[in-house]
Amino acid sequence: MSSLFPALAADDAGERVALRFGDRSLTYAQLAAEAGSLAERIGGAGRVAVWATPDLETAVGVVAALLAGVPAVPLNPKSGGAELGHIVGDSAPSLVLAAPGAPLPDALSGVRRLDVEVRAAGAAGAAGPYAVPAAEPDESAPALVVYTSGTTGPPKGAVIPRRAVAATLDALADAWHWTADDVLVHALPLFHVHGLVLGVLGPLRLGGSVRHLGRFSTDAVARELNDGATMLFGVPTMYHRVAEALEGDRELAAALARARLLVSGSAALPVHDHERIATATGRRVIERYGMTETLMNTSVRADGEPRAGAVGVPLPGVGLRLVEEGGKVVEEYDGETVGEIQVRGPNLFTEYLNRPEATAAAFTEDGWFRTGDVAVRDLDGYVRIVGRKATDLIKSGGYKIGAGEIENALLEHPAVREAAVTGEPDDDLGERVVAWVVPAEDPYPGLDRELADHVARRLAPHKRPRTVRWLDALPRNDMGKIMKRALGDG
Ligand code: ATP
Ligand code: MG
Repeated sequence: MSSLFPALAADDAGERVALRFGDRSLTYAQLAAEAGSLAERIGGAGRVAVWATPDLETAVGVVAALLAGVPAVPLNPKSGGAELGHIVGDSAPSLVLAAPGAPLPDALSGVRRLDVEVRAAGAAGAAGPYAVPAAEPDESAPALVVYTSGTTGPPKGAVIPRRAVAATLDALADAWHWTADDVLVHALPLFHVHGLVLGVLGPLRLGGSVRHLGRFSTDAVARELNDGATMLFGVPTMYHRVAEALEGDRELAAALARARLLVSGSAALPVHDHERIATATGRRVIERYGMTETLMNTSVRADGEPRAGAVGVPLPGVGLRLVEEGGKVVEEYDGETVGEIQVRGPNLFTEYLNRPEATAAAFTEDGWFRTGDVAVRDLDGYVRIVGRKATDLIKSGGYKIGAGEIENALLEHPAVREAAVTGEPDDDLGERVVAWVVPAEDPYPGLDRELADHVARRLAPHKRPRTVRWLDALPRNDMGKIMKRALGDG
């Protein structure tokens, strides 16, 4: 059996529920049989695409590929034709796994389809034993090719080795005291590392269980937490909905207070939402920071101190440094000196598929991966992400200003529903601070000025937005991440 999933072979895990999607579930024994027999059918394929609908079939398909030692390429069923065409062309799968009946788009018409039939789900008893793949691939062999979220440009295929999956999950188990006793609830998509590697492979590696909601709702989260779930994984847009719902919902507050761990990642959790949840529930969300290319880098530990706006400390095994512009490594943590986060460790990807130049450019000469994210570290080493070097660091009047702290300040104002801050070319200042705001109600005259003053009262005056632009909604991708490159002129 695969060393990635010891629980699939463990005698004592057989009858425990491994996966539950809606009202369908599989025990470990059933999963071993289902994924094992599918693995026999896909063994030898070059790469296998998985039509990653949020269901049992996707989870079984990915586990089967890992058992067979064939790299799996999860595909976003919602991605448009052009993007999907790019990903299918780039990853050139020899097979596509899909739930029976799921319609596949034209981009996949040339790829052989194999339906994932999950017979045991809901039925009693397990299928029989199956033939174990002859030899387990080396730990440096690719486990997955996951495409980045496409927040800053077209998605790139990160080749993730088996070693990285094991390393990151074991590091999280240590940091979060995550065990076989944990029951995870989430509603994340299964084509990014958050929902798939952490949210599905995580519980399976540790012998715990996962309940996937299919669709996020605060009612469903409360129901599961009241019914034995111990952990919740979410992205900030989900925690924002939690924060909003908490205003009139004491039962939700009680359910959240029951959770062992509330974890947020994939983008920065606004301080305002963090604080609102803490006030209503007495519990603080912990943040972790990762990327497709690196899996997880830092987290607040279960026995650590959750801090609004901070993503905690490097996970065991992860080397992390901040490098100032010009190449100087930040040696002392002062909560102020901004540097790019660079990482190394067993959690890293091996390459961008078909992009040797991008791969080479992503690493320093001495082998550190350049994340493109900039951060400061608190005196005790806690990492605070300032944002992305490319879009969130505004150079104005000789200052370097992080967009995030201005966004956090704006979000505290009752007239602001959503906010994003960018820099725009300015003859005087180099760049000027521009705030894009989704108002809670129609903006009244003078509100833009009021918001600029509101920020200047909380932060240094040079951080005051020079321009406020009103929008109906911010452009976001399927992970709820703000697509700043779509906030252009006009
Ligand atoms: P692309 O690389 O295609 O532009 P992407 O960077 O959004 O898209 P992912 O690999 O899914 O694709 O996301 C990783 C990025 O998400 C990180 O580089 C970081 O900017 C952001 N991120 C993840 N977790 C956090 C967090 N807790 N706080 C702030 N930012 C985070
Ligand atoms: Mg990226």
